Amino acid sequence: MAAMTPPTTALSWAQTAACTGLESTIFYPATDEEADTAKAVCAECPVRMDCLEHAIMRREHNGVWGGATEKERQRIIRRRRRERAVAKAAAS
Ligand code: SF4
Repeated sequence: MAAMTPPTTALSWAQTAACTGLESTIFYPATDEEADTAKAVCAECPVRMDCLEHAIMRREHNGVWGGATEKERQRIIRRRRRERAVAKAAAS
């Protein structure tokens, strides 16, 4: 089993990631129902929002990033699209 490497060690925010050295499989659960352990680590992570935004921007399809599963990230993306559409409609 591989130890967790923060999602992007090349980025400065990843240097303080709470998942450094943890078992990587924790962050790649088979189902969303098995994501609680990863989410608990992410909840205490000082770079959670950076990690979440990174995963959303890169359309990361696997794993728990920033405390969110793929399904949860998709919901965030859809919600943001709706919010942008409403704001655009209101501005025109
Ligand atoms: S939010 Fe979670 S996956 Fe992202 S760097 Fe922190 S502990 Fe790792």
